[in-house]
Amino acid sequence: MSKILVIEDEKNILELVSFNLEREGFQVISTMDGTSGLEMAREELPDLIILDVMLPGMNGLEVCRELHQDPAAGNIPVVILSARAEELDKVLGLEMGADDYIVKPFSPRELLARVKARLRRYSPGESPGEKNTPGKKLKIGQLEIDDDKYAVFYKGIRQDFTPIEFELLRFLAQNRGKVYTREQLLEQVWGYYYPGDSRTVDVHVRHIRQKLGSETGVTELIETVRGVGYRFKEDS
Ligand code: CA
Repeated sequence: MSKILVIEDEKNILELVSFNLEREGFQVISTMDGTSGLEMAREELPDLIILDVMLPGMNGLEVCRELHQDPAAGNIPVVILSARAEELDKVLGLEMGADDYIVKPFSPRELLARVKARLRRYSPGESPGEKNTPGKKLKIGQLEIDDDKYAVFYKGIRQDFTPIEFELLRFLAQNRGKVYTREQLLEQVWGYYYPGDSRTVDVHVRHIRQKLGSETGVTELIETVRGVGYRFKEDS
C-alpha cells in the first residue's frame, strides 16, 4: 500500500484529498504547515507528497527545494497543489523540483489520475517488467541511462535526476530521432494529458539540458523542433 503525505493548510481541501485517496486504498498522513511537513517527509519517507504552495511557516516551494536536496527524501515524487491558476506558481513549483502540479479547484478524478500516474511510473530498482525496458542500460555517446539504479550518468559522472526527468530522458533516448509533441510526451511520460500542461514539458526539458551540461556549450542531446516539440538527437 502506498503512503502519501499531504501538506495542506486548508482544512476542507485536506479532507477532500485525504478522503479520496483513502477511498482508493492509499495510506494518508498529513500536516497543515510546511515546517512539520518537511520533517514528516524526512521521517516517514512517503511514496508521494502532495504539497500546497501557500502554507504557514515554510511555504510549499521552500519545502520542495529543501526536500530536493535531501539525500533520502530527494527522490520522492512531489505534486504541487496550487491555489491559483497562475503560471508563476506552476512554473516555480516545477523549478523547485516538483514532478507535477494540480490547480485548485480540481476534481477527485484528476487528483487520482495524477497521483496514480506518478506512483506507477516511479518504482526504482523494481521497475523492469513494466514498459519499454528491453535493455537495462542505455548508452548513447557519453550518456548512460541505468534502469536498475534509476540513474543517469554523463561523462562518467552520476547526475542528480528527479523521477520525471529520468522518465522523460529515457523515453526520448529510447526513441532517438523521433519527434514528439508536448502533448504526446505528457501522455507517454506523465501518463495523461490535461490542456494547459505543455509548459511542464518545457521546464523539465530545460532541467535535463542543464544537467547534461548544455550551459557549457555541449551540443544539445534533446533538440527543439520548432513548432512541433522535442526529439533526442539522432547521431551523437
Ligand atoms: Ca494554502
